[in-house]
Order: sequence, then structure tokens, then C-alpha cells
Amino acid sequence: MSEPVIVVKNLYKIYRIGTNKVRALDGVDFSINRGEFCCIVGASGSGKSTLLNMLAGLESPTKGEIVIAGEHIEEKNQSQLVMFRQAHVGFVFQSYNLLPNMTAVENVSLPLTFQGVSRKIREQRARKMLNLVGLGKYLDHRPGQMSGGQQQRVGIARALVVKPEIVFADEPTGNLDSNTTNDILKLIWQIVHEQGQTMVMVTHDNYLAGFGDRIIHILDGKITDIEDNRARAKEQMEALIRKDREKENRKDAS
Ligand code: ADP
Repeated sequence: MSEPVIVVKNLYKIYRIGTNKVRALDGVDFSINRGEFCCIVGASGSGKSTLLNMLAGLESPTKGEIVIAGEHIEEKNQSQLVMFRQAHVGFVFQSYNLLPNMTAVENVSLPLTFQGVSRKIREQRARKMLNLVGLGKYLDHRPGQMSGGQQQRVGIARALVVKPEIVFADEPTGNLDSNTTNDILKLIWQIVHEQGQTMVMVTHDNYLAGFGDRIIHILDGKITDIEDNRARAKEQMEALIRKDREKENRKDAS
């Protein structure tokens, strides 16, 4: 039986603007199991980013509980949160925050320096991860020498290189073409289903959400539905892999 790695109870985030109150999260309850790919979907303004920021400990809730890997996030101070994130979580956010004067390999190696990994091993792991996201030819490029989509993939590689227990992603394939999107989906599938990491992804794209084991639907700060999507996700991923194989076979035959 898989155990919950994230438990959210009675979560509220209310923003006050002048005399107005915006209920960005209006009483949310759910849990996410270890080794699950969970998608949070909803239209713009439904509260997805607020929820993700709260799970990541980037903003504090107005009320409620968030337990991640057994620890109450809402009770931690800033420095405890920094340590908690380093130990348990990785982020793929839309703004890539890559360091402009560093190469792709150096950017991806950076999080490993905090873990005391030697330089040689850091660079080996960074190169391997960059190859997995399809950037094997861009190892020594700086962010300014890459397209938006390529920078985004460097951001993904940097988040995954430390093998975090939980990965939070906000529209991770927003700028990518359909082939690259499918490659990233396969990578996510692999880290979740082969390495047992947990992935929580926020998106408004139904195609992406279709690969999630579970889909949490959110509207006006409330959960409207939690779908068990395991069977369809598996089918979709198998179809994707089949298509790739056929493409490879055609290439070999010609
Ligand atoms: P989504 O990510 O689904 O587009 P958000 O979580 O960004 O939705 O926003 C949910 C609601 O909360 C919206 O009505 C938005 O205007 C409001 N909101 C988000 N952040 C703030 C903020 N810092 N101050 C005031 N209102 C906010």
C-alpha cells in the first residue's frame, strides 16, 4: 500500500485587497501518495498557483494544515523551510532562474554543491540529466545562447538532478513543442514510476493532465473533483512509447 506523502487539511488562503476579500483557496482537503503523479487542473484564477506556492512553503496559509513527509509546513519559519526544501523537494517553475554566466552543465550541477557531492560526480550527473532532457548538444551553452524551451529543459534537469522525494511543477512544458513535451512526460513518468519519486504538477492543459495518476480539479479555490486516472494514464503512456518505437523502426528501415 502506498502511503500519503502530502496531506492537506482544511486549507484557506484569503487575500485582502482594500475592503475586498479574495478566497484564493476556500477550504481544500486532499492527500497525495508517495510515487504518484498528481495533476492539479483548473482555469486561470482558480487557485492552482496559490496552492502550489503553499505546498512548497513559499507562502503561508490563512488557515489549515499542510503535512509533507510527516512535517507540518505551516509551522516552520523561513530558515526551517529552506532546510526542508533542500532535503525533500525540487521545483520546476515557469521562470527558470538560470544563472546567465554559467553553462548548462554548471547550472544543473549547482544544487549538488549543497549536498557536498564532488565536482567530478556533479558534472557527470548534470551531463546525464541534460542528455535525458534532450540537451546533450548544449552542455556548454549559456542560457542566453539557448531558446526559451531549451532553458526550460535546463530548469527541469536542475530540479531533477538531486532526485528530490517530491517535485513541484508549474506548467513545466509551457514553451515546448509537442515532441519535447512528450519527452518530458516520459521523463516524469520514469522518475515517478521507476524511481518512486512524487510529482505534483499544476496545469491548465488537459493533454498533460491526462498522464497523471490522479487529477485534482479546482474551481474558485475549491476542489470540485478528484479523478482516479491511472488506467487512462498508463494507456496514454504506452501509446506514446509505441509511437516512438514505430518512428525508430521507420528510421532504421530507410
Ligand atoms: P491560478 O494559478 O489558477 O491562475 P491563482 O492561484 O494565481 O490562480 O489565483 C487565485 C485567485 O487569487 C485569483 O482570483 C487571483 O486574482 C487571486 N490572487 C492570487 N495571488 C494574489 C495576491 N498576491 N494578492 C491578491 N490576490 C491574489
